Amino acid sequence: PLILGIETSCDETSAAVLRGERDLLGHVIFTQDIHTLYGGVVPELASRAHLRTVDDVVEGALREAGVTLADIDVVGVTAGPGLIGALLVGVSWGKAAAFAAGKPVVGVHHMEGHLFATHLEHPGAEPPFVGLLVSGGHTMLLWVPAWGEYRLLGATRDDAAGEAFDKAAKILGLGYPGGPSIQRAATEGDPARHPLPRPLLNRGERPGDREYYDMSFSGLKNALRLLARDLESKGTLAEETPHVAASFQAAAVDVLTAKTMRAVREMNCPRVVLGGGVANSRALREALARKLGSRGELYAPSPRLSTDNAAMIARAALFRWRRGETGGLDLNARADLPFPGLTR
Ligand code: ATP
Ligand code: MG
Ligand code: FE
Repeated sequence: PLILGIETSCDETSAAVLRGERDLLGHVIFTQDIHTLYGGVVPELASRAHLRTVDDVVEGALREAGVTLADIDVVGVTAGPGLIGALLVGVSWGKAAAFAAGKPVVGVHHMEGHLFATHLEHPGAEPPFVGLLVSGGHTMLLWVPAWGEYRLLGATRDDAAGEAFDKAAKILGLGYPGGPSIQRAATEGDPARHPLPRPLLNRGERPGDREYYDMSFSGLKNALRLLARDLESKGTLAEETPHVAASFQAAAVDVLTAKTMRAVREMNCPRVVLGGGVANSRALREALARKLGSRGELYAPSPRLSTDNAAMIARAALFRWRRGETGGLDLNARADLPFPGLTR
């Protein structure tokens, strides 16, 4: 089947035409740059920018694929979670297009999309696997015995991993988004020079304890803030910034890696699938690959499919559509849409 995917949950307006499981015929991602002025996403501006661009973005993806709306078999659109005004633009557009073309529409959970992004590029990223979803708004450690069955092993108790990178970068006066700028600054830095805390790292005795898999990043951020203030008062912050960035990155990666490896041991499954923007972190990938060793399998999305995109939404829509889970004109956007099939 030919699937049209639409994503407007945050600050990317994106559309994709996917044929079957991994034949990406057209894909357009428009990143709204207005938000860089504010150092974060402004919801009202995001909705308006989606409204202005969604027609052209979908048109662009269809043109690139060499198809028209009439050729599409199913429309998949992000129904949540995300910014409600932003989501509504995509959902309304998707419903209208599906109605006009007489085709079904499928509401997709954005994080299930992030999980499917990796599978789109890597056929080996098949269940069973340990899934680590690390993005700007979410941090989830999952056990995935089959597609559609997601056991939430652990999650962050405060800031998401990506959010922590973004806030750290802001404290250090590095650019937004924070992950890439921290990574760049850290290449010249010594990660052992400024010891920073690794919250919950060794907490929890056994898998039944929440702390065994849960994560926390706000304590790390606060420690970074104090360190930066201290260096600032000594007048050495500028020269120390690469080391501070490297130390922060190492602490965050240590936590993510340790919790993921606990799941790998406990589930006796050395296959790990990463999803979300933080999956781009070179330090994270290297640490996990090292820990997994030669009998392990690590799958991560390419940079383009790691952050928000409609290809992953089309892929997740295909899965839901095959299970007969199509919506009608009553499909609605929900800022807090529950993850389908998620259990604790
Ligand atoms: P969500 O999917 O939870 O709604 P989001 O879609 O905004 O959030 P993504 O687009 O998946 O999040 O990821 C963006 C995040 O990834 C940002 O917080 C960014 O700092 C982070 N990130 C990107 N590259 C890296 C990197 N190399 N190292 C660490 N973090 C990174
Ligand atoms: Mg974004
Ligand atoms: Fe996302």
